[in-house]
Amino acid sequence: MSDLPNDAIKCLDKGFVRLVDSMGGDDAIVQSARVSYGKGTSKLSQDRGLIRYLMRHRHTTPFEMVEFKFHCKMPIFVARQWVRHRTANINEYSLRYSEARDEFYFPDPNHIEFQSAVNKQGRMGEVDKKLKQKVQAYFKEISDRSFEIYSELNEAGVARELARAILPVNLYTEWYWKNDLHNLLHFIGLRSDGHAQYEIRVFSDAMASYVKKVAPFAWEAYQDYVVKGMRFSKIEQSILEQKLPKRVLSDIQEDISYKLTASLHSNKPRDEKDLYPLYKKQGGSDSIEDFNLKWASGEIEVENVRELREFKSKIESLK
Ligand SMILES: Cc1cc2nc3c(=O)[nH]c(=O)nc-3n(C[C@H](O)[C@H](O)[C@H](O)COP(=O)(O)OP(=O)(O)OC[C@H]3O[C@@H](n4cnc5c(N)ncnc54)[C@H](O)[C@@H]3O)c2cc1C
Repeated sequence: MSDLPNDAIKCLDKGFVRLVDSMGGDDAIVQSARVSYGKGTSKLSQDRGLIRYLMRHRHTTPFEMVEFKFHCKMPIFVARQWVRHRTANINEYSLRYSEARDEFYFPDPNHIEFQSAVNKQGRMGEVDKKLKQKVQAYFKEISDRSFEIYSELNEAGVARELARAILPVNLYTEWYWKNDLHNLLHFIGLRSDGHAQYEIRVFSDAMASYVKKVAPFAWEAYQDYVVKGMRFSKIEQSILEQKLPKRVLSDIQEDISYKLTASLHSNKPRDEKDLYPLYKKQGGSDSIEDFNLKWASGEIEVENVRELREFKSKIESLK
């Protein structure tokens, strides 16, 4: 079992995540995407915009071109949740081959809470000091005792592969874990979420911090479109259609027309006289006087033209 390496991020009391190696980054995503889009798409080829486009449209394979290899050490009960992510390549420390080390997870008092009443898979509510001490004492007692028995069986020559079964799931294990960015983001999306168990969340957050450095545009796009983005079911959409006043929808459309005008102008500056016609072409309905006032206010934000157009057509599709 490894002690905390210098370049690792410490997780829980004795665990860690360390990025051993990575292949590619944002550039590798763009490079592979260009194969499918070919030449002549010079606007799309601006890296950040292309990555955001791919993420928005769930064109996922370019994200599989980036690879991450981690060295991780975690309690066995965390590893049990971790292995459910089936697309990774794993090589784990073998307790058939090597002896276990006396390394058990002992929860920090801040994370000893009651069973959640609202979420069957969660915890909530401050546990009193006495009960916390009892929990900690039990963790210690069972870990020490099981390790004592394990060591005794080992010394008596009992096969390690059998003796290990005496050890509880708060024993630490370690592995090399390799995955591609697409599936790693999927892992982080699920395991850094507030509904995931705290003990796996800290490992997921540690991996996320490496992803942010290696592929910052992809990370940003994943946050914007997947983690913080929102989809509506058919039922939810029909409620919105019934309840949203038409005037709200036309206000949004109006706002998009202004943003589109400003964004198109920023990408390719127009003569002043062409601005109002450009705005009308984007569906704007204000008078030229109102347009001039709003334009002069400097409040109009420049955004991605393609994304604004996609938003416009979504709003238009609401019946
Ligand atoms: C909060 C939370 C609670 C959970 N609770 C439970 C629980 O109570 N019990 C439980 O058993 N699990 C539980 N899980 C695990 C969960 O059901 C998934 O197994 C886990 O999150 C991995 O997700 P995945 O299959 O999408 O990921 P991966 O295994 O990484 O797969 C990625 C994607 O590849 C595809 N894929 C991979 N392998 C296959 C395959 N063999 N066949 C078809 N498609 C495949 C799927 O599209 C999948 O979404 C929980 C997970 C979370 C985050």
